[in-house]
Amino acid sequence: MSSAPAAPVLSLESAPAPAPGAPTVQVALPLPLPQLFDYAPPPGSLAGADSIGRRVRVPFGSRELVGVVAGVGCADADTLLRDAREWLDPVPLLDGEVWRSLQWLARYTHAPLGEVVSTALPAPLRRGEPVPDTHRWGWRLTADGDAQRVRQRAGTRPQRLCQLLADAAGRGTALDEDQLDDLMDDWRSAARALAKRGLVERMAQVHVAPVPMLGAGPVPNAEQADAVAAITGGTGFGTFLLDGVTGSGKTEVYLQAIAACLARGRQALVLVPEIGLTPQTLARFRTRLGIPVHVLHSGLNDNERARVWAAATRGEAQVIVGTRSAVFTPLPNAGLIVVDEEHDGSYKQQDGIRYHARDFALVRAKALDIPVVLGSATPSLESLHNARSGRYVHLRLKQRAGEARPPRVRVLDVRKRPLRDGLSPEVLEGIAEHLQRGHQVLVFKNRRGYAPVLLCHDCGWTAPCRRCDAPMTVHAGGRRLQCHHCGARQPAPLACPDCGSLALQPQGIGTERLEEHLGEAFADYPVIRIDRGTTNRRDALESQLARLGDQPGILVGTQILAKGHDLPRLTLVVVVGIDEGLFSADFRASEKLAQQLIQVAGRAGRATDPGEVWLQTHHPGHPLLETLVHGGYHAFADAELQQRDAAGFPPFAYLALLRAEAQQVEHANAMLTAVRGLIAEDAPVERFGPMPAPMPRRAGYQRTQLLLSAPRRQPLHAVLDAMVPRIHGLPEARKVRWSLDVDPMDLY
Ligand code: ADP
Ligand code: ZN
Ligand code: ZN
Repeated sequence: MSSAPAAPVLSLESAPAPAPGAPTVQVALPLPLPQLFDYAPPPGSLAGADSIGRRVRVPFGSRELVGVVAGVGCADADTLLRDAREWLDPVPLLDGEVWRSLQWLARYTHAPLGEVVSTALPAPLRRGEPVPDTHRWGWRLTADGDAQRVRQRAGTRPQRLCQLLADAAGRGTALDEDQLDDLMDDWRSAARALAKRGLVERMAQVHVAPVPMLGAGPVPNAEQADAVAAITGGTGFGTFLLDGVTGSGKTEVYLQAIAACLARGRQALVLVPEIGLTPQTLARFRTRLGIPVHVLHSGLNDNERARVWAAATRGEAQVIVGTRSAVFTPLPNAGLIVVDEEHDGSYKQQDGIRYHARDFALVRAKALDIPVVLGSATPSLESLHNARSGRYVHLRLKQRAGEARPPRVRVLDVRKRPLRDGLSPEVLEGIAEHLQRGHQVLVFKNRRGYAPVLLCHDCGWTAPCRRCDAPMTVHAGGRRLQCHHCGARQPAPLACPDCGSLALQPQGIGTERLEEHLGEAFADYPVIRIDRGTTNRRDALESQLARLGDQPGILVGTQILAKGHDLPRLTLVVVVGIDEGLFSADFRASEKLAQQLIQVAGRAGRATDPGEVWLQTHHPGHPLLETLVHGGYHAFADAELQQRDAAGFPPFAYLALLRAEAQQVEHANAMLTAVRGLIAEDAPVERFGPMPAPMPRRAGYQRTQLLLSAPRRQPLHAVLDAMVPRIHGLPEARKVRWSLDVDPMDLY
């Protein structure tokens, strides 16, 4: 939901009047406008209850749009409506549970249904293309082909293909295209030539559900067995928080619950964070479940996504594993939803329709009346709160599975210690020791680039981004500057633009600088940096880790390294520079930091070699670190929940954040002031703002915000229900880009 463009009002031009009381279709269009649009049904067709959920192509101003029929009605006698151009679906594309859930989502996010639908659909369907076929295609000889087969010249491709098809026909089957790929090179050109002469034909194969061939897994321990029994033993909807330390065998629990779901002939949907969807994970699912696992992630092209969507809609895809937007997959035969790493921030979409995939998964599971499992070693405070108050079943896995022991954690006080490029002598010694034992070391630093700031040592000038209120990050060993907020790049200046001094120095430490320093200090070992700068493509992480293999070496990186690939040779995790995170103003900063620390620590010692975690800090006595190190994540969560309760933050309050951006701050403020004026004086919500956003200028736009808070969800939504449709009509909203974020993850 961004700013409203100058929208053509429903055009009344030149359409013939339908007969009085003629049926109309109410169409949800992908526009940032809060209403449905009325059209006469496409010429020659009727509208009825079975029109709902079908796509239509409609004229809109001078354009054509694809929308979904959300209702049918009757035109007033004196209304002139334009005709919809054509139906795009013979039967509803969206119906049943998924359609109702999308309508719920539109109400909950206060976003136009048309935009929600367009977020939910794969791009080809959004554009109006037909639902792709998911048949396997087979080939067989025609009667002519069979008769003429013997006359083919021996040894040619067409003859070999005919022979293969004849053999298959002898066994009573056709050959499908995958089988042909295995049996013969370049069979397609031969098939095309033969098909032209009418000797072979292509036919759709009937879908036969593959039977799961469960692979062997470890015998579950008692905690795992209890968890599986709880999840599979109930009937209908239930939410299970699978709260298990890293390496405790949560994935084993998912696999067994999915196997039970498949045994009942039902579909399972598994959501994973973007970086958690490794080929290793998929291979584990495939070999253990023994059926095709359909994958949905951002690396697929549009057509592949649409095919998986279609296979799920037809009930052919039995297991779907995917990232955030996979939560929109229709599941006509649903049995289970799993949300792995449920605390992960990537489940929240941060632009367009700001939905939370975990929360929407719960809504769907309830509507589908099936169990949903939320798994994490560091559950979100929301989920923990719900588990403790009895709304979720709390399943704990307290032990690491198999041989692995929990890592030993050590806090290194580096106050007054000499640091070289951010590393203390103890840390360098520790790294050397683990490498000499033939092990691997992970150095975690949550800061990409060479250094966070370029500083003039003579006058104190720091290189700012011209379009944002933030310093630019130093990259490429000091040669380049890059803004991590708007992406702006420029060469680093040679001299200070304020005083002309040449004493420009990169300040602070990023992953690039650590890589450089570690590469010099440990020249005999590979040092591999992994962050968003090096892993733009999703397979890049894999190939970089493959480069390291089982050899001793060092990984340097950001939180990308906190999960994903199993690294059995990794025995030391060094965390540097967490101090910035200890003093962030955002209400979720502590939670995120604690989760990151625990997750990255969990990478150490996952196999039989014991692991160690070293935290290098200037604040060894900080309460967050003390609680986390001595009491673990749950002790931290207890303390943090108390603070949230006292301060009136989620999960003890419900928030909605209106963000406004404009070239001039007055425009943004005027709009939010007008919005505030739409709220009744006595409405039971607290309102904060308009006030500058924590980052008041980004990419050249001035940013302000209005925060609404209420101790219960219902009154907040009542206010939004009354307010949001009227925002679209505010004259102050015209010069402003605005968005509404219900349940914001942070206040930036
Ligand atoms: P998590 O998902 O909690 O991180 P995994 O399910 O990946 O944990 O399990 C961690 C490791 O322990 C894996 O190598 C897995 O095969 C192994 N494992 C899991 N459960 C058991 C068990 N009951 N007995 C032995 N090994 C197990
Ligand atoms: Zn200077
Ligand atoms: Zn910038």
